[in-house]
Amino acid sequence: MKRLDKYLTPAIILIIFEVTAFTLWHLKDNIFYLYNFSYIGISLSIGISLYMRRYKYARRVVQLLIGLYMLIYLGLICSENMQLEGFWYYLFTGTFEAATIHYAVAKLAGPLIFGRGWCGYACWTAMFLDLLPYKTPSLPRKNINWIRYVTFTLSLIFVSALFLSRVGNIERIMFWAFIIGNLLYYLAGITLAILFKDNRAFCKYICPITVFLKPMSYFALIRITCDKDKCINCGKCKKICPMDVDVTDNSRKRKNGTDCILCMECVNNCPKNAL
Ligand code: SF4
Ligand code: SF4
Ligand code: SF4
Repeated sequence: MKRLDKYLTPAIILIIFEVTAFTLWHLKDNIFYLYNFSYIGISLSIGISLYMRRYKYARRVVQLLIGLYMLIYLGLICSENMQLEGFWYYLFTGTFEAATIHYAVAKLAGPLIFGRGWCGYACWTAMFLDLLPYKTPSLPRKNINWIRYVTFTLSLIFVSALFLSRVGNIERIMFWAFIIGNLLYYLAGITLAILFKDNRAFCKYICPITVFLKPMSYFALIRITCDKDKCINCGKCKKICPMDVDVTDNSRKRKNGTDCILCMECVNNCPKNAL
């Protein structure tokens, strides 16, 4: 029975993604969606199975499988701008394709179920940032997360300006915007990580996508909770959390609650299995 339990969660995840894959394939009459969502579902299921077998790098495996697929295959080879600019672009053209579907599934509807799981297991920016040595923040959190509203607004202004000025070859511009935007993100992410001694500083202060992710993940179905009867208040979970979440507080309003990326570091390190 225990053996079957091990396969239940990966199987459920795979089924959810396969249902999405088949639905979009038939709705959009495009077999790409079948391949795309099947690949993501299989990658996630492999990662969860590895995690259940206590493989230390299970999350890294998923990050690389999905992150590299999105960055190299969808972004560079298929020329899809999967960043926020791509979302605005497809939204303005009124097309429910590529980036709009990606945002609808991963950044808007998805977080209602799996919170910021995207940030822990699929984001190609964090995929590299997580390789830096500052895995646990050692300095107090800065009061500068307003910057994400600035980057969000700049992204919207940039794409609006392209449409209003009626420039030609906008698809090509979006492709280069994807490459330059990613390079800027990596540069800013690495610089901030070194300055603040925190791999996830970019996620906390700069990333414009959190403007969508944070409010949606407030209502997340899947979240880490604490069994107060087991907890001995040792503080280890809060110390190890890369996102400074007060995970022993079970309320939805807990400190930095909408920043949880479901990385499971707190769960793996709790000496009392209270999480
Ligand atoms: S906050 Fe932004 S950069 Fe960080 S993991 Fe999430 S989407 Fe990626
Ligand atoms: S690590 Fe476990 S026991 Fe310690 S404070 Fe966190 S939940 Fe409680
Ligand atoms: S350590 Fe725990 S609370 Fe912190 S981000 Fe990871 S899963 Fe969430």
